[in-house]
Amino acid sequence: MNLLQWGPYGIECPQAGVFIDPWGKVDRALLTHAHADHARYGHKHYMAHAHNRAVLRQRLGNNISLQEIEYEETIEINGVRFSWHPAGHIPGSAQIRVAGNNQIWVVSGDYKTENDHFTPAFEPVKCSHFITECTFGLPIYHWKPQAHTAQAIADWHLSNVNQGYSTLLYAYSLGKAQLLIHLLKNLCPIYIHPSIAEMNRALHAVGFGLPELPLISAWKPKVDAPALFMAPPGASNEKLLRRLSPCKEANVSGWALVRGMYRRQNLDNGFALSDHADWPGLLSAIKGTGAEHIYCTHGFTSEFSKYLSEQGYQSTEIHTRFLGDAAPEPMSTLETDESIH
Ligand SMILES: [Zn+2]
Ligand SMILES: [Zn+2]
Repeated sequence: MNLLQWGPYGIECPQAGVFIDPWGKVDRALLTHAHADHARYGHKHYMAHAHNRAVLRQRLGNNISLQEIEYEETIEINGVRFSWHPAGHIPGSAQIRVAGNNQIWVVSGDYKTENDHFTPAFEPVKCSHFITECTFGLPIYHWKPQAHTAQAIADWHLSNVNQGYSTLLYAYSLGKAQLLIHLLKNLCPIYIHPSIAEMNRALHAVGFGLPELPLISAWKPKVDAPALFMAPPGASNEKLLRRLSPCKEANVSGWALVRGMYRRQNLDNGFALSDHADWPGLLSAIKGTGAEHIYCTHGFTSEFSKYLSEQGYQSTEIHTRFLGDAAPEPMSTLETDESIH
């Protein structure tokens, strides 16, 4: 019998009676990270990497029952051993390794293979069964190095300033915003949306070094020089942002690689900086696990799975509710990531 299975609650380990990033309400939820499409309300008990403590308590309530796990620490439940390993996606993100019954499984969660020198870097974990995300599982998705993209953003901002415009970047408040701050903090002054400030505080509380940045509201139109602002995409209609004009707007997302994406959103520009692996990243991660059995979830599952089968893997798509059914509870666009689009 397979150690991990999937059903209406998502990925389940029946022998241990636990679920990984489950839907609905379960007794024991093991989380890969704190994005809203993985960490949901209503479970009785949560287990997650310690870096998620402040974000999870802020989002799901101070009184949740949360067991904090460190990387490489092993927890045994009914003969099954669980451990969390860096996924390089956002602060607190982990792959969960599950070992028992002579099987080793790894659930990738969301992951990014390029080391951003901020979030602990992705580590390949040897296994026989690998459940991989494939948000960007098409060959067209191929990222430039992050430093290159950061420089392109800084150059564009400078040209905006020279023409009398400020710059407004849309970036998800958990993960993407901090990555951008990390990359841009020495290139230009930055003003941030309150929801980004909130996430910065939560990550600062668990040890991530982030500079104190002024809020967007501190910037005075007609008085202050053009500046660089950062806000989550869900805030684009807020009054707070309307007072920033004249302003050039761009989204910062892997989806920006497809030309026309930002024009459809009425933006001036787009920068393909992602916290997910690109096509070569996915393939190298899969190779690095040494796994023969690959299960594809979250993204271009059928295309990606078909490609892997052609390469000789035993590859399957996972059909669960995260393949497009409506979410059972409202999700805030402020706390999720690029896999929801
Ligand atoms: Zn995520
Ligand atoms: Zn996700």
